[in-house]
Amino acid sequence: MDFTNKFFSIHYAEVGLKGKNRSFFEKRLVRNIKLSLQGTGYTEVKRLHDRILVLLDKNTDISAIENRLQRVMGIAHYELVNVSTKDISAIKEMSLKSIEGEEFETLKVETKRSDKNFPLTSPEISKEVGGYLLQQTGCHADMHNPDVTVRIDVSRHDVYIYSDKQSGIGGLPVGVSGKVLVMLSGGIDSPVAAWRMIKRGAKSVFIHFYSYPYTDKSSLEKVMELAEILSESNYRSSVYLIPFADLQQKIVSETPAPFRVLLYRRLMTRIAERVAQLENAEALVTGESLAQVASQTLTNLRSIESIAEIPILRPLIGDDKADIIEIAHRIGTFGISTLPHDDCCSLFVPKHPATRASVEDLDYAEKGLDIPNLVEDAINGMEKKIVSFNYEN
Ligand code: ATP
Ligand code: MG
Repeated sequence: MDFTNKFFSIHYAEVGLKGKNRSFFEKRLVRNIKLSLQGTGYTEVKRLHDRILVLLDKNTDISAIENRLQRVMGIAHYELVNVSTKDISAIKEMSLKSIEGEEFETLKVETKRSDKNFPLTSPEISKEVGGYLLQQTGCHADMHNPDVTVRIDVSRHDVYIYSDKQSGIGGLPVGVSGKVLVMLSGGIDSPVAAWRMIKRGAKSVFIHFYSYPYTDKSSLEKVMELAEILSESNYRSSVYLIPFADLQQKIVSETPAPFRVLLYRRLMTRIAERVAQLENAEALVTGESLAQVASQTLTNLRSIESIAEIPILRPLIGDDKADIIEIAHRIGTFGISTLPHDDCCSLFVPKHPATRASVEDLDYAEKGLDIPNLVEDAINGMEKKIVSFNYEN
């Protein structure tokens, strides 16, 4: 084959992948891998019947590829495969190379031979190569629970050698599950909610409501940075920025204080639905988690949602804060989420917000508002930005 003596072999979970769906899924994964590997110097991404290969040349940045594959949704596992000629001493040398730099005390060699004309049988190859590796590395054999397994695959033209599989992130390739509009606040939870949806293959568009000039512009900067981090997996991402100050002012002057946050949320939901329509997004996503704060009791979630016409998905609904924080650390959003910012929803909030507002309570409380006009004003003032992940940072 026409590449250096290494390539990546990428595997995906195949459950439920049949017929047309499968090819749609695979093509999307290939496209996403290409987007993620931009600038690494790979030569080709190639779809085989059960895996995807990334071909390399001598200038390719292999460790950059390894880092980036870790973030591509839909990859179950992958390995860096070394290619050897069909000669036992070449196989031995390449096997040694394949474990270079790894730390281990015990190892095992496993051979598969699809070319039955090769002069040695699979057990003979394993034994021969194993003996050589033990002698060269000073480690021990362990057939049951080795630190490292070297796999040798003798095929028709070449021999493929690789050590243990690297786990991928799992999930589904972004784009195969439709599109959602994520309500991104600048806090800890909503970026994690977005990440969860992206991981299930939903292309995410973002919407943020800000209260400038009542607050400073820090939430806007944070949201743009969060969207940029998420775009490492979501790719090119749209962010809608909605001025919310005038609407809040109206709510504060026209409605009872205990319901304010819930009415903010209802208005946000209505505006978000308009944007979802523009974007052909099929659901809204929030970072709400059951009973985490007063506005997130079951009763309140229901009363907010009662005005919604499309589904509101809450991927964190059953998660504890500690678990959400752990994911935020892992995906790299925690540091930005915890920078100080003025939260538009903590503006004009009473000491004792309602924890059990019924649908009727909110319907009644909103009566004095000209909702269609408020929504229209917000839409007229919105701004759309595009962000992409910058690998240079
Ligand atoms: P987060 O950490 O995501 O801010 P939170 O625990 O602070 O969540 P709330 O402030 O009650 O919870 O917000 C609940 C959800 O409503 C958020 O997760 C987010 O999806 C949405 N939301 C809240 N404020 C905004 C905003 N200014 N712009 C867009 N969405 C928002
Ligand atoms: Mg918040």
